[in-house]
Amino acid sequence: MTRLLLLALLITIGSCNEDPIVEEEQMLPYPGVDDRLWPYFERFELEGEQRGITLNLNTLNIQGRIESIDEEHIAGTCQFRGTSPRLVTIDSEFWNRSSDLFREFIVFHELGHCALRRDHDESASSSGVCLSIMRSGTTDCFDQYSVNTRAYYLDELFSKKGGI
Ligand SMILES: [Zn+2]
Repeated sequence: MTRLLLLALLITIGSCNEDPIVEEEQMLPYPGVDDRLWPYFERFELEGEQRGITLNLNTLNIQGRIESIDEEHIAGTCQFRGTSPRLVTIDSEFWNRSSDLFREFIVFHELGHCALRRDHDESASSSGVCLSIMRSGTTDCFDQYSVNTRAYYLDELFSKKGGI
């Protein structure tokens, strides 16, 4: 939120500048990321920081977009593209029908791949609940991500950072 306010302020201040478009681009919190994803990117950094994982998604050069993913049942993807920026894509249909919490779940899952370099983890409790946000969604376990379980899942997410 602070960044968004700062951005608004800087745009206002910079509005009499000769080349305001260039100025604006330099001030974007997450260049190359759809602005609808910014709150979730910022939240991801904050939640990591609270757990001792300092991440800068800009430095990691992660881009993000929301667009239709043709493959069925795929809500998001993380692509590693050689020397190009890593790319998080969130399916636009999923995005439009989902709550803030479920959007967070999917964005954090993809950033788990793209920023934390985690693979899928299909661990499940004896009652069949997925124990990680990094579940693939292709096994039998079911998600129980809610305001009550969120802290557990985020602890789990940031405790198993893969090799960078
Ligand atoms: Zn995945």
